[in-house]
Amino acid sequence: MNIVLLGKPGAGKGYVSKYLQEKYGFTHISTGDLCRKNIKEKTEVGLLLEDYCQKGLLAPIDLILKMLKEEVLSHKNENIIFDGFPRTIEQAKELESITDVNLVLFVDVADATILERISKRRVCPKCNKMFSIDDAKDEKCTNCGANLIVRADDNLDVAKNRLLIYEKETKPLVDYYKAKIVVVDNSGSVDNTHKILDNIASKFLK
Ligand code: AMP
Repeated sequence: MNIVLLGKPGAGKGYVSKYLQEKYGFTHISTGDLCRKNIKEKTEVGLLLEDYCQKGLLAPIDLILKMLKEEVLSHKNENIIFDGFPRTIEQAKELESITDVNLVLFVDVADATILERISKRRVCPKCNKMFSIDDAKDEKCTNCGANLIVRADDNLDVAKNRLLIYEKETKPLVDYYKAKIVVVDNSGSVDNTHKILDNIASKFLK
């Protein structure tokens, strides 16, 4: 069972993935995380990706596919959640040649909430756990104790740009996947989102 997560940047795809990973044993593959890892490790691909990621622009498909294919191969026969891929119809078609997509979850939140969440978002540079400054006032990771940082692409101008790119490039995927899509309203409380995800799991997971 493979799931594709769709939704605007900052809608909470990482959070939804984490819940499904921890509670239902999915493997989480995030192309954004793969980009950041390669950039941090200054790999050949990482050096090519850096400028795109900092500006919030879509990176060239061949660079993303190279990382994605390696990751999928190393998780053969596992149930995967794809987070941040596909972001275009072209990428969706590529994914079909790599593996099946059984379900698409559209994580839905209003733009105003997204911009507020992005401005408060912090991430652990060691273990990638995400926080809101509201829940991590001392700016330390509750998982591993590292000092939290602001993602380079989490400033408001870049966030607005990423939303524009989403509208143009990624939104058409909602129609492309219309036969497989289920909406996850992530504008309410954490408990509410968990309930929605548990309902979806009871319906679609065997
Ligand atoms: P994310 O964490 O998913 O918001 O991704 C962070 C950045 O990584 C994006 O702004 C892009 O620069 C790059 N990126 C991640 N996934 C993709 C993708 N599927 N296609 C192109 N660029 C991507």
